[in-house]
Amino acid sequence: MVNFSGGCLCGAIRYEVSGDLVRVVNCHCDDCRRVTGSAFATNVFVKEDDLVVTLGEPKKFEHIANSGSKRIKEFCPNCGSQLFSTTLGRPITSLKVGSIDDASFIKPTINLFWSRAIPCARLSSDLINYDEMPDKK
Ligand SMILES: [Zn+2]
Ligand SMILES: [Zn+2]
Repeated sequence: MVNFSGGCLCGAIRYEVSGDLVRVVNCHCDDCRRVTGSAFATNVFVKEDDLVVTLGEPKKFEHIANSGSKRIKEFCPNCGSQLFSTTLGRPITSLKVGSIDDASFIKPTINLFWSRAIPCARLSSDLINYDEMPDKK
C-alpha cells in the first residue's frame, strides 16, 4: 500500500493515489517516446479507483496503440504535461513517473518494446555527472 501525490508542471492539475502499484515499466514503444518527447517513458500502473484528481481537469486525446487497442492520453491543457494513460474498458491507469512529487520509491521491473529502444535510452556510466546545473563559462 502506497500513498503519493503528483501533478503537472504549472500546478493546474493535481492528483493523489492510495493503493497498491499494479506494475512499473520502462516503455520504449514509439507512442511513449513521442508523447513524452523523451527517450522512453517510465509508466506506473495503478487501479483506476485508487487515483483521484484533486485539482483541475485533464484534457483527453484518443489514439490507436501499437497493440490495436484504443488508448486515452490525459494531459494538462495549460502546460501540456502528460499525466495519465488508459485503455478503453480496462480499470487500470498508467501515470507518467515524472508527474509524481517524490518518485524515489518507484522501481521499474521490466523494459517493454526493448527492441525499439533508441541508443541513448541505454544509460551509460561514462557520462559526467553534475549534481546541479554547472556554472556558465
Ligand atoms: Zn499544467
Ligand atoms: Zn509505451
